[in-house]
Amino acid sequence: MPTSDPHNPPTIFRPGAGSVQLSRAEIAARVAELGAQITADYRPKDAAGEPLHLICVLNGAFIFMADLVRAIDLPLTTDFMAVSSYGSRTATSGEVRLTKDLDQSLKNKHVILVEDIVDTGLTMQYLLGYLQGRRPLSVKVAALLSKPSRRLVEVPVDYVGFSIEDAFVYGYGLDVAHRYRNLPFVTSQVTEEG
Ligand code: IMP
Repeated sequence: MPTSDPHNPPTIFRPGAGSVQLSRAEIAARVAELGAQITADYRPKDAAGEPLHLICVLNGAFIFMADLVRAIDLPLTTDFMAVSSYGSRTATSGEVRLTKDLDQSLKNKHVILVEDIVDTGLTMQYLLGYLQGRRPLSVKVAALLSKPSRRLVEVPVDYVGFSIEDAFVYGYGLDVAHRYRNLPFVTSQVTEEG
């Protein structure tokens, strides 16, 4: 069960005190591994002249995206889209509103969608349907974090940074009510009574 509603953050925070702890060094090492894996997977396609195109899902993935693109040793292009979900995290409706659309066509491109976290999977399901409609050559998903125990729909996550338990996490791009995105580590939220 989530420890807190992100729209009603607890009054007392102890960053670094939650059950999920991913240090700056652990994240950097894992992002380097993901970049190396993507480089190996896409090299033949790139040699065939089919561009690799990374799409960042704003806002939460902006820091992961910035580090991941620099860990990929291939020519690539980037684009950004922004979505907001209706409802609170604890009652995800699955209805996603596009607040910033893609700037570039996906025609003849191999796409990697870069997300911060896959929780119920409803947002990812929507995004994959949306991207497939734009007829790219292929679509894969890279997510810094995944919470498999929360999944309501099965979605393919091809590159996962860390699978974590069901806890509300923040830092390294992820927020609590728009705050804490600048923390260089990921931690889970702790609620203290009184
Ligand atoms: P889903 O549709 O339930 O998979 O939710 C995906 C989105 O919910 C993510 O892109 C995040 O914006 C948000 N989210 C889910 N879990 C967390 C969390 O633990 N911390 C911060 N944001 C989260």
